[in-house]
Formats: sequence, C-alpha cells, structure tokens
Amino acid sequence: MIIGTDIGGTKINFACVQAEEVSGGVISLKTPDNIQGILDVFFEGIGNLACQNNIKAIGIATAGTVDLENSKVTGSTGNMPDGYDSLELKKILKEKFSIPVFVENDANAAAFAEFKTGNARGHMNTITLTLGTGIGGGIIVDGRLLRGRTGAGAEVGHMPITPQKKRKCTCGSWGCWEAYASGTGYAVTAREMAEKIPVEKREGILKEKKIPELTTYDIISGLNNNDPFAIEVHNMWEEYLSMGIASLINIFEPDSIVLSGGMAKFINYEVLNSKVKERVIMQATLLLPAKYENFAGLLGAAYLAGEKFNL
Ligand SMILES: [Zn+2]
Repeated sequence: MIIGTDIGGTKINFACVQAEEVSGGVISLKTPDNIQGILDVFFEGIGNLACQNNIKAIGIATAGTVDLENSKVTGSTGNMPDGYDSLELKKILKEKFSIPVFVENDANAAAFAEFKTGNARGHMNTITLTLGTGIGGGIIVDGRLLRGRTGAGAEVGHMPITPQKKRKCTCGSWGCWEAYASGTGYAVTAREMAEKIPVEKREGILKEKKIPELTTYDIISGLNNNDPFAIEVHNMWEEYLSMGIASLINIFEPDSIVLSGGMAKFINYEVLNSKVKERVIMQATLLLPAKYENFAGLLGAAYLAGEKFNL
C-alpha cells in the first residue's frame, strides 16, 4: 500500500493507493496558511487513513516546482504560504514514518496518472493540461515524464503567446499562455472586450454588471442563456486555448492531450478541435477529458513513488 497525497492551494488530499486504485476513500483537509499548519494537517491526514499501519511509501504531488533529486519543493506558487518553497517535507515525513517519500510537481503527477490508468492509458506520448486559475502541464514522452534538467520543466502555462506586455502573469513575466487561457485570463479577456463596447451598446450581462466586477462565472452563466457577449468571450477563450494546444501538438506530436481542471468542463470539443486543426501541421491529436480530475495528482504521486522505490 502506498499513500498518495496532493498539496494544493485550497485543499490537501490523502488516500491509500493499491493495485492502481484509491482504497478506502479520500481524506480532504483545508490547506493551512502557514508551514507548521501544513505539517500538522499532514500528520492528521495520514494518521486517519485506514492503511496507515501498512504503508510502504508516500508519494506527494505538490503545487510549485520540485527538485527531483532531493524530493524538495524549490519554487512556490502564489497561493501557498510563505516559506513553502523551503519546506523539507521528505526529510520530516521520513523521520516520522520511517518510509521512503517521493515528491513530484502536481501537474506532472496528474499526467502520469492519466497515462498509467486514466484516459490516456496506452498513449506513450501524451500531455495532460490542468486548466484552473492557472495552467499546469505534464508531458509524457515515450512513456516517461519529461522533467527537464532539474525537474522544473513542462511549465507549459508560461509559454509566451504574444509580444504585448499587457497582461502580467503570476510568474512575473508578461503574455504567458495562462494569462490568457486560464480561468483568470478568461475574466480578464471579458473585461477587456467589454471596455471596447460603447456604454449605449452594452446589453445583456453588460447591463447587469459593472465591468471591473465581471467574473468567469458571470460569462459562463451568460453563455448558458445565449448572451451574445458571453458567446464572443468564450469564443476568444477557445481561440487562446487552441493556440497553446496547437503549439504543444506541433512540438510533441502526442497521441492525446487530456484536459482537466475547473475550466475544462466548459470546453466545446467540436469547436476546440476545429480551432486546433487550423494551427497544427500534422494529423490531429485526440483531445480528451480527464478521467480522474481531483484525484489525479495523488494517484500519480503514488504510482511514481511505487516506480521509484520498486514497490
Ligand atoms: Zn507566466
């Protein structure tokens, strides 16, 4: 039995993983806003798992970048507490539970789960994208995770898609794909497009809401009511989404691209496929929804720990 965990900005999930399945349910606890709190939650979460006395390893998927050699978090993201990037989880957990610990970036772990037992099973070349407030990516090449020189690779959300320095990204740079095609980017696009419409011509949701207060949720609910402005915004989002996806296909020519995360459920696959097709130079790649969604990270981390420690 291997414990799989996933440390995200809002929740930390724990589960026992055996024979490629979550066994006995998932424990989900709120992510604390300080480092000591994270450790306390870890001990609580693991302490409440049914398999706690029968574990051979712990696999951790985490937000941020990971130094693979030392299984250490080396880069944090905005929604994690200060000091998270120097948290030596592996060392602390190894001391406490006396079992090997493996740490991997959450998007990489999710891609590995979709490849091993999810909707990309059998696809030796596949990419999983997590479309949420940002864009995460995990890339499998010839059946192995592509990690780059130090393990920080596959940050697909930060490929620039425009020379314009109009949108600042969470990474500090400008014009990154995630600044346009994430859920956050979606709302920014909506506000930018709304500003260009003269006040007297604003209709539907634009009459109901002030522009700076427009959210992704407003546009999605407008979309469900066939609001013309919402349709236009959504179309632009799919355009931005297709740009990054087409670039990835042109570079990696994968068997599939799996789309997960909160924004993935708003994708019209027919529209996205045709937009991507216009931009790729080879045969179209399969675009697929994810199998695991919330539990992909912890499953992938457990699989990777099993592989790393030959369990
Ligand atoms: Zn960026």
